[in-house]
Amino acid sequence: MSTITDTDLAALNEEFERAPVSKVVAWAVEQFGSSLTVASSMQDAVLIDIAHQVDPNIDVFFIDTGLHFTETWDTLRAVEDKYGIKVRVVKKDEQNWKELDPEHCCEAAKVAGLDDALVGRQGWITALKRVDAVTRVQVPVVGRDRRGLVKLNPLAAWTDDDVYGYAADHDVPVNPLVAKGYLSIGCAPCTVPVAPGQHPRSGRWAGTDKTECGLHV
Ligand code: SF4
Repeated sequence: MSTITDTDLAALNEEFERAPVSKVVAWAVEQFGSSLTVASSMQDAVLIDIAHQVDPNIDVFFIDTGLHFTETWDTLRAVEDKYGIKVRVVKKDEQNWKELDPEHCCEAAKVAGLDDALVGRQGWITALKRVDAVTRVQVPVVGRDRRGLVKLNPLAAWTDDDVYGYAADHDVPVNPLVAKGYLSIGCAPCTVPVAPGQHPRSGRWAGTDKTECGLHV
């Protein structure tokens, strides 16, 4: 278990709020070494691109719910090819999403998969941004998750334009569904494209009250 205190985290947040993403990742690599991991939904590989520059051996994982779009798997393979890495695919038992309400489906497929992915880790890095959703406006650059692990969100202050601008400038793989209006990509049964001007997150669990899968609460 990490010895980083809440006082340390507060000081780090001040230091990292305007720091380059690579500096935050480098700190995490220094702190946690091989017990650090990077989460990816394969919407884009911007975080992976930066993390890979800091540490080419950094662990990257993807949670396989059994319900992803073909394009998401294509993106994962493009990431593996570009960076010469093997993404760690974590899978729980296949869920029949039609038989479960979305809350229980996400709990069984995604949250349980994340718990598995984080076994033996001390820190993890996500691509969460404050602009993603109203539930994320206070995302810190560094904090602690419900397991007590240090959770880093070095893109917290980025906008979608920042992400796609970086991707274009650095030839970073982006899920081809983004160009078709899928601006927040989850599982195929629960993701629809959004019209211009609509909030990207409105394409997730459309028609329900659900806004988060539970990975980041
Ligand atoms: S996003 Fe939909 S299909 Fe995927 S785990 Fe959640 S409820 Fe199930």
